[in-house]
Amino acid sequence: MSLNASVARQTLLAQALGWVDKQSDSLGPSIHPATSFLRDPADLHRASRTYRRDDNPTFLQAEVLLATLEGGEGCLLFSSGMAAATAVMSMLSPGAHVVVSTRLYSGLRNWLFSHGRRWGIDISEADYEDVHGLRAILEARPAQIVWIETPANPLWHVSDIRAITELAHECGALVVADNTVSTPILTRPLEHGVDVVLHSGSKYLNGHADVVAGALIVGPRRAELLQRLADIRNDYGAVLGPFEAWLLLRGMRTLELRMNAICRNAFEIACFLQEHERVVEVLYPGLASHPGHVLSRKQMQGGFGGMLSFRVKGGEEVSRRLAASTKVIRQAISFGGLETVIEIRRGMEGPESRTPPDLLRLSVGTEAVKDLIADLSQALSA
Ligand code: PLP
Repeated sequence: MSLNASVARQTLLAQALGWVDKQSDSLGPSIHPATSFLRDPADLHRASRTYRRDDNPTFLQAEVLLATLEGGEGCLLFSSGMAAATAVMSMLSPGAHVVVSTRLYSGLRNWLFSHGRRWGIDISEADYEDVHGLRAILEARPAQIVWIETPANPLWHVSDIRAITELAHECGALVVADNTVSTPILTRPLEHGVDVVLHSGSKYLNGHADVVAGALIVGPRRAELLQRLADIRNDYGAVLGPFEAWLLLRGMRTLELRMNAICRNAFEIACFLQEHERVVEVLYPGLASHPGHVLSRKQMQGGFGGMLSFRVKGGEEVSRRLAASTKVIRQAISFGGLETVIEIRRGMEGPESRTPPDLLRLSVGTEAVKDLIADLSQALSA
């Protein structure tokens, strides 16, 4: 039995679709570690579960919940966000053309320019704020994939999902949107026409910084595309463990509550930083001063997310001291957890990084915002 799809999103999330484990009647989801499943002895070719690399009952509830949140045909969990991204790239043949923004998660950029290039993928980088420039690139050479990430890590550039998707479709490309930072609570890229949504489940979906996972959600009526990606997951083997799938689902049950709290905290912190005399720049789509603010108001509902970056007077050395002198906020990589973390971003991105060396990135958590502001305040005056 499951909840009627007309209930509010928060109800679907709180009850993880309202599924009840048939064997135990448990309201909490069960974990199935089995690698192998009973076949129908009368018809071995009947479609059913066979082996955990293709399929596992523990995936199902998280996959259906995520597909419902994004409004998609279906969802596939992967062993990481990168595994999900490279599964999409695995659909390509040598000579394929992929277009990405000049503002792209560094891990994917590094993959494209090392492994992707070696596979024969041709990559174009475009300024996604200049849709005419993007059109010129796509008209000069058809692309198989146009990749959108918005807001984009770590400067939080905002791309116009609908305009870029329409243009990419006109030119025959498949559009993939990395929705890790917005989450389906704030943005639903499939509603803007995108073909595939990607998540690093290691961030907000899990929300407790204790799982590495990834997911792909395909748009409505795209069963064939879903099957192609499922075959790739099976053939390449980047499957999530059942315990991780269970943790991911457990985390998702509080996704909306966490995102609401995180968005409120992030906005207050961004306003505080913007007013501070030692801060020279704050990058947060929720601030009117952010170049993507107007677009964000259209594309993001209910808040502007929990990620922001800032720069302080005095440059890199002062930034380093600041990151080292916060006490409540810890210095660490990654984002989307309950705890607020700070990092000097460039050092994490490798030698090709285009990120300013003094840029401080904050992943805002759910702590009391007065404690976070007091901590930043003391670090700024240290
Ligand atoms: N997409 C974005 C925006 C990310 O920030 C990350 C990781 O930091 C990934 C994808 C990759 O996810 P994972 O670390 O789960 O492989």
